[in-house]
Amino acid sequence: MLSVHGLETCYGSAQALFGVDLEVADGEVMALLGRNGAGKSTLLKSIIGLVHPAAGSIVFAGEEIAGDPTHRISRHGIGYVPEERRIFTGLSVAENLAVGRRPPGGSGAGWTAERIYELFPPLSAMRRRRGGAMSGGEQQMLAIARTLMGNPRMILLDEPSQGLAPRVVTALANALEGLKRQGMTVLLSEQNVRFAERLADRATVLETGQVRWVGTMAAFAADIEAQHDLLHV
Ligand code: ATP
Repeated sequence: MLSVHGLETCYGSAQALFGVDLEVADGEVMALLGRNGAGKSTLLKSIIGLVHPAAGSIVFAGEEIAGDPTHRISRHGIGYVPEERRIFTGLSVAENLAVGRRPPGGSGAGWTAERIYELFPPLSAMRRRRGGAMSGGEQQMLAIARTLMGNPRMILLDEPSQGLAPRVVTALANALEGLKRQGMTVLLSEQNVRFAERLADRATVLETGQVRWVGTMAAFAADIEAQHDLLHV
């Protein structure tokens, strides 16, 4: 569904990605692992068009999207949940979902608020609560939920478990497992290997802007040496 080849991205004169290749198949959850500053966020931002790659190609569902503006890439069907969890803090949960709604591109019925509440039970219990009055974990769920209401064919999640309490991380992983069972294609940037392990089929590991390891998530989770070398865990 997504094929990235030879991607190079720079911030001014500082190069952040060096010839990155990445494949995500339809219905696959791909973990993007790497230490702070390895280039995970930059790769996601390059895919969604927030930073423009200097070279390389990004093919999504058969179309070249590298260098396209973000609004066009998102209309192609890529949803993006940034690290900073963009939600409308002055609007309620239900209102945030309504604002995120976009009709499905294909023939399916698409996401509804009711389907979202089934996937994220904690949100169901707080439909009228303002976004600003929610915990970090609840806001993360709402940010993902709002993106799903746009009916993407694939979602990019930037470190969703970051800064969340263990109990909340478990609730989030449960919801994302449910999403995976529904066949969603996901590129999941994470520093938390245990969280990624629960969800991902495969892993791509970045180090200083280059791909250092690609394989099954199970193989990476079992390879303590690779984890130590590449992530220092
Ligand atoms: P983190 O977990 O800290 O977000 P990351 O793996 O997502 O790490 P990036 O944020 O993509 O890494 O950073 C990759 C490199 O690009 C780093 O060297 C970083 O300092 C640099 N970088 C990121 N954003 C900018 C920017 N806006 N301007 C200049 N350099 C940047």
